[in-house]
Amino acid sequence: MVKVTSKQQIQQITIPTPFPVGDVHTYVILGEKVTLVDAGVRTKEAWEYFKQELNVIGLTPDDIDQIVVTHQHPDHVGLIDFFRKDIPVIGHERSHLWMIKDEAYLKTHTEFYLSILSEAGVDQRFFPLTEKVNDMLHFSCNRGLTDLVDEGDSVQGLDGWKVLYTPGHSSAHISLWHEEKGTLIGGDVLLAHISPNPLIEPCYPGEDERRKALVEYIASLEKLSLLPIRQVLPGHGDIISNAKELIEERLRKQEKRAEKVLAFIRKQPRTAYEVCVHLFPTVYEKQLMLTLSETIGQLDYLEDAKMIEVDRNNVPHQYRGIINESNKG
Ligand SMILES: [Zn+2]
Repeated sequence: MVKVTSKQQIQQITIPTPFPVGDVHTYVILGEKVTLVDAGVRTKEAWEYFKQELNVIGLTPDDIDQIVVTHQHPDHVGLIDFFRKDIPVIGHERSHLWMIKDEAYLKTHTEFYLSILSEAGVDQRFFPLTEKVNDMLHFSCNRGLTDLVDEGDSVQGLDGWKVLYTPGHSSAHISLWHEEKGTLIGGDVLLAHISPNPLIEPCYPGEDERRKALVEYIASLEKLSLLPIRQVLPGHGDIISNAKELIEERLRKQEKRAEKVLAFIRKQPRTAYEVCVHLFPTVYEKQLMLTLSETIGQLDYLEDAKMIEVDRNNVPHQYRGIINESNKG
């Protein structure tokens, strides 16, 4: 149990998942209200485990007043289905359609990913993957948000905490920040052992351009690096006490990877798929969607920094380096 103030304590509850990422952490904040931050995958096993751990601190699921979700991924929302029907569920609006598995929205996904793969010049043998992109939603919940929050908002019953909008790993991602204590409940924004993937997401209804996940993620990290963070309570892995250093290290590594991509493209124009194979020669086949997300992220970043340009007139798109005085070499 982590003591926040004399009136507030936080208990970390770790729940197993069937995913490669392993266990997921949820947090129970005991204050004026009892708030659960994130709710593991929707399996019976996870629920039994959660109830047992809750029992250790003398609580039952009915004692939980509200749930805050950092983002819509199944390992963070699945268990919501097991709670009483009227429990408030709070999060960023971009989580909602995923959580309710909105049929019209999910229907657009296959087509969205097909166009991403075509534009990237991906070998057609991978196209069937686009039918499976939402398989993981089996472990997600079937309930949406009851209350929406965004940057700077506070949550009722969570004295001292503020919502930070921290997109990148998901465009819906929020974190909870306790300025006075320097504590961040960070979801997947910063993990000690791995760098969260800047996942490409299908456009939300009304949008005609996909969001640049890695560019947004870097901005989120830069925003966090300005805060006096003393500890990050993450969604996976160890509690982080060196957030500033870790963020700097992550940004450095990202910069290195971008340099590698740039050097490759400068030799001759390339497709995103060619860059992906170059960056991840041993894993791209097994993890095409993840490695392609990362690759497109790097290309977005370089395009945003005006180091490369993209010919979008033809499919697949071709990326080429821009040589000018400021980035010669
Ligand atoms: Zn996630």
